[in-house]
Amino acid sequence: MFELSEIFQDLNIVAIPTKTNFRGVNVREVALFRGSQGWSEFSPFIEYGVNESKTWLQAALEAAYKPWPKLLREKVLINATLPQVAIDEVPRILRGFPGANTIKIKVDDFEKDNYLVEAALEFNPDAKIRLDVNGGWDLQTALLNLYNFHLRFGNVFEYIEQPCLELTDLAKLKKEVPLKIAVDESIRKALDTDLSVLKECADVAIIKWAPSGGFASAQKLISAIGLPVVISSALDTGIGISHGLALAAAQPEMEFACGLGTTSLFVSDVLAPSLLMVDGSLEVVRQELDEELLSKYQASPERRLWWEERIRSIVAEGGLDEYLN
Ligand SMILES: [Mg+2]
Repeated sequence: MFELSEIFQDLNIVAIPTKTNFRGVNVREVALFRGSQGWSEFSPFIEYGVNESKTWLQAALEAAYKPWPKLLREKVLINATLPQVAIDEVPRILRGFPGANTIKIKVDDFEKDNYLVEAALEFNPDAKIRLDVNGGWDLQTALLNLYNFHLRFGNVFEYIEQPCLELTDLAKLKKEVPLKIAVDESIRKALDTDLSVLKECADVAIIKWAPSGGFASAQKLISAIGLPVVISSALDTGIGISHGLALAAAQPEMEFACGLGTTSLFVSDVLAPSLLMVDGSLEVVRQELDEELLSKYQASPERRLWWEERIRSIVAEGGLDEYLN
């Protein structure tokens, strides 16, 4: 279908500063390239090895060279994402998600981070709140923290994302607390096992376009899990986001807002025109790059060589033959 030289010809490596430190990331490096269907994005985090990055490359190639799945809606409802920032920065961050009525907040624990929930509710008293714990609690810590959050804020929580990492802890927690639980990290950990067990541990599954390996793989994953889904991003540029939006728009049922508004956490995106959230939604369309922004955020020639080498070594591992000939 294509040669590696085709990717490298159109390959752009951009380095975009983030507005705040997001999970230790201050500058996001991303590879963008174009196939017969349009622009695509390959952006596993720098520390990811060949195996982990391969599903991301599979997603990137599929989106570049195969048509999008059938879209069942034109717009997708989006949630705001609030990283751990100082209290006076909260309104500025949340204004980046106009019309969003769901706010996802990264938390470590109640004592340290309850001010973020308070500030978010002050900004939007009607907001539904999601807490993302990234698997940071054991069962006891989860019970204590969720008791405190619930006592203090009452019924504002839509769901708690990955409170514990272990499936056994999640299953016990789900029986103990009157809150919905979402799984994110658990999905990738459980990929080689029977994914239907996730139903006993959670109420919602967080699905990401690139780490799932693209549209076809994500769809298989969604069917195997059998839970309502939220399509989310991995701090992608507007190109990766456009593919996440297409995945969300291809779902027959979508009862939750999706975590695809994260380009507003960047100092700038690379699209012309940029993604614009209207009434809490984003439109689902193929995106074009802005040449000026592209040259403004172009990474160094050394970084470009590093990314070319990264792509070469993933392809050399094999397994992407469906896309290579
Ligand atoms: Mg998460």
